[in-house]
Amino acid sequence: MKEMTCKLLVIGAGPGGYVCAIRAGQLGIDTVIVEKARPGGTCLNVGCIPSKALIHAADEFHKIVGMAGGKDPLGISLAKPAIDLKQTVGWKDGIVGRLTTGVARLMKKAGVKSVHGTALFRDGKTVVVETETGEQLIRAEQVVIATGSTPVELPFLPFGGLVMSSTEALALETVPKGLAVIGGGYIGLELGTAFAKLGSRVTVVEAASRILPNWDADLTRPVMKRLDGLGIAVLTETKARRMTSEGDALLVERADGSEERIACDKVLVTVGRKPLVEGWGLEEIDLDRDGPFIRIDEQCRTSMRGVFAIGDVTGEPMLAHRAMAQGEMVAEIVAGHRRSWDKRAIPAVCFTDPEIVSVGLSPDEARAVAGEIKLGQFPFVANGRAMTLQSEEGFVRVVARADNHLVLGIQAVGAGVSELSAAFGLAIEMGARLEDIAGTIHAHPTLGEASQEAALKALGQALHI
Ligand code: FAD
Repeated sequence: MKEMTCKLLVIGAGPGGYVCAIRAGQLGIDTVIVEKARPGGTCLNVGCIPSKALIHAADEFHKIVGMAGGKDPLGISLAKPAIDLKQTVGWKDGIVGRLTTGVARLMKKAGVKSVHGTALFRDGKTVVVETETGEQLIRAEQVVIATGSTPVELPFLPFGGLVMSSTEALALETVPKGLAVIGGGYIGLELGTAFAKLGSRVTVVEAASRILPNWDADLTRPVMKRLDGLGIAVLTETKARRMTSEGDALLVERADGSEERIACDKVLVTVGRKPLVEGWGLEEIDLDRDGPFIRIDEQCRTSMRGVFAIGDVTGEPMLAHRAMAQGEMVAEIVAGHRRSWDKRAIPAVCFTDPEIVSVGLSPDEARAVAGEIKLGQFPFVANGRAMTLQSEEGFVRVVARADNHLVLGIQAVGAGVSELSAAFGLAIEMGARLEDIAGTIHAHPTLGEASQEAALKALGQALHI
């Protein structure tokens, strides 16, 4: 068996692992990264990027279909449009290819050694990698576990045939006629909306009493309205049960115990993701857990000295930018820098229609922490830019402490608000007060002006409403 040693071994080249390896390499740390598939992990290959590519294609197609229907208020008309999903998927794969090749190049440029294969723990500091050319033993002084997560499977609807996870849904080459989406979280709604815009008849089945249950109702209401407008049926307090024996419909159980049939030719199961902590020897090193996740402290250290864990394997929020921030921090800690992990300003974004973004605390969470709060909300219906973009739905909301006006949270719902998340994060990260946001000159006409107006409103000084 071939053997190698290194100072830092990173297992998994998703956004957590590859960012950690690049930063470690840049800092002169002798780093090896092991990846069993393509660099980029879930995010670049079957998650964030492919889903946003599909959403963009679906938005474009839907817009054109609207114009072809002769109902376009701008007066644009077109002949009957069509979509070749195979070509769309090819375009998406091209983007994924460019990004994953770029990641491999960046790691190489930083001097990181890449090993392709599945890592199996032998002990906390030693792994054996099953590569195409045989086994490779790697001994490291410090180890970073960045193995990510996989979709949760329903035992009564196993993946295969017409039952798919998000991975298969993102590779479909024809648009399903009837699509049942099990799970009304962000992944199910993003993909369900995209397929509805591409022409599928979509039904969302959600066991809870509302979709996006982790988001407050004010933020999800515009999304509900839009789902309805797109003809997407949302069945809440409903449980998926099984496929019919003919395999042409999903049987679901409503809250009152009645059974309903949802005709479909594809079923997309998006009921959550689970950390990849089994099947590769992690059990052997017996790290402390938080439920299924690896327990970490504010420096991403696990219960074993010299072993770190980052990204989805460490729990919620399972988001690429959280994994990346952790990866960068761990590399700097290994290099001897003083760093710690502050999760206050991790933005959460739903790329639904309209989009939702939240950074920091919701009004209820802020009240629990600070007692009295100041809250300002400004609607896009009063924002000039939103009008010119034909996207007047939604608002920006700023939440601050009542005593010193420290901004605790900013949320928004509306078309394109994901792009405001950086400004929201910056405000919270820098400890902005309401006066800081209100006093920042925002370019006109932009959607961002709604944040300034929301802050002004919280101060009782709104100008445009
Ligand atoms: P991963 O990206 O899962 O990477 C882990 C890597 O480890 C994988 O490449 C895997 O092959 C490798 N690996 C695992 N075990 C081993 C082993 N034993 N040996 C070698 N290699 C191994 N997040 C966002 O922030 N924004 C979004 O818009 C967004 N959209 C999403 C859409 C979808 C459809 C999905 C499924 C996810 C989305 N996410 C999004 C979540 C995001 O993809 C994850 O949070 C992120 O990829 C986690 O990064 P990670 O590095 O922890 O793990």
